[in-house]
Amino acid sequence: MTTTNAEPDDGDDGKEVEPDSALVTARRQLERAAAHVDVDDGVIERLKHPTRVQRVAVPLERDDGSVEVFTGYRSQHDDVRGPYKGGLRFHPAVDAEECIGLSMWMTWKCAVMDLPFGGGKGGVAVEPKDLSTDEKERLTRRFAEELRDVVGPKKDVPAPDMGTDAQTMAWFMDAYSMQEGETIPGVVTGKPPVVGGSEGREEAPGRSVAIIAREAADYYDYDLDETTVAVQGYGSVGANAARLLDDWGADVVAVSDVNGAIYDPDGLDTRSVPTHEEEPEAVMTHDAPEKLSNEEVLELDVDVLIPAAVGNVITADNAGDVQADVVVEGANGPTTFAADAILEENDVAVVPDILANAGGVTVSYFEWLQDINRRQWSLERVHDELETEMLRAWNAVREEVEARDTSWRDAAYVVALSRIAEAKSTRGLWP
Ligand code: NAD
Repeated sequence: MTTTNAEPDDGDDGKEVEPDSALVTARRQLERAAAHVDVDDGVIERLKHPTRVQRVAVPLERDDGSVEVFTGYRSQHDDVRGPYKGGLRFHPAVDAEECIGLSMWMTWKCAVMDLPFGGGKGGVAVEPKDLSTDEKERLTRRFAEELRDVVGPKKDVPAPDMGTDAQTMAWFMDAYSMQEGETIPGVVTGKPPVVGGSEGREEAPGRSVAIIAREAADYYDYDLDETTVAVQGYGSVGANAARLLDDWGADVVAVSDVNGAIYDPDGLDTRSVPTHEEEPEAVMTHDAPEKLSNEEVLELDVDVLIPAAVGNVITADNAGDVQADVVVEGANGPTTFAADAILEENDVAVVPDILANAGGVTVSYFEWLQDINRRQWSLERVHDELETEMLRAWNAVREEVEARDTSWRDAAYVVALSRIAEAKSTRGLWP
């Protein structure tokens, strides 16, 4: 699995060292943030360790009658502020360490958004493309059963992630509800609206990226009508962000998918460029004045760059070539630790993933509220409340940037860590 902020680099002995795992990076970011705030060492020590990591065997009867056993995980990092929250992924490289690191990120992400959740992450080490729909359903149901004791609307609320989707969450919710003897939609989020999902959940991460990009442009005194934007990755996050920014007047001059990028210095009509969902990997079929490589998109002379495809695309090798003034992280961990330092040195502002793409978990929170209250919100209400929450989080982080003269990433971690540490100190250590 691609790890966030992982980057092969050369050790002193000249040999290439292994990339850092998500866990190593998450701990490093925790220590970095801790240096900025006055937090008890004991609290930091506690946050380096997940509360619990569940490892389960998930037997699956294949369509041909044979039985295969997969391994599933659920890491629950910290719940001082509320139930654990985070995705379940189906991916061959899922392992305990990755889940722990990603669950730590979810703790920070929920805290920076001031949501009453802690961090969780899990999944099954399986290649979902090798499963039929029936097999995927059976695997999901059995996994739900294996996790039943540790999940629940008040304990731990999973959501879709790589290789899982709204249908997977519906199966998970059904399996859990059947065993509990009542319909409990709040056990997972990211469900289809017909079974308690929220309107606007799918587009929420892209919408939050657009809102944060708009605020960042305003902060750096750009008129949005004259702001140029390049977006790497035209999937759920990238396309929704690009289209909203286009609607709001920005010039989206380049977008890309895995095959490459299209570029129009006068601005693309983003609504006519097919998204990954509408027509997979079809960006390059769209007529545009210029075609570029994915690497070139990252180096375009634009005001705002939005990497929204995969992790680790801005590295020590290309960070020096980034010409954008502001990078808004749409993907999780698109900037490596080493690249971050180079961008900071070059005065490129990087607004971090834990703030920018947090619209997804925020609307998951709205979904959870709707499930508990058994009342569906309108799309308009979801949009309004998301806007409010994003602006609240943006302003909290902006205040730290201004007060401490620090990077956006450090400021976001300071906001998150301060909230978590305060809750931990106030609750105390039991017994
Ligand atoms: P997606 O599958 O909908 O779209 C991904 C897009 O990136 C596609 O256009 C694909 O062609 C392109 N792509 C893939 N590999 C590429 C590469 N190497 N170079 C350039 N383009 C490439 O995915 P998504 O849901 O939009 O997620 C994108 C990123 O955002 C991921 O890092 C994901 O973890 C993160 N994210 C997603 C959500 C969510 O709820 N969808 C929430 C938060 C963060």
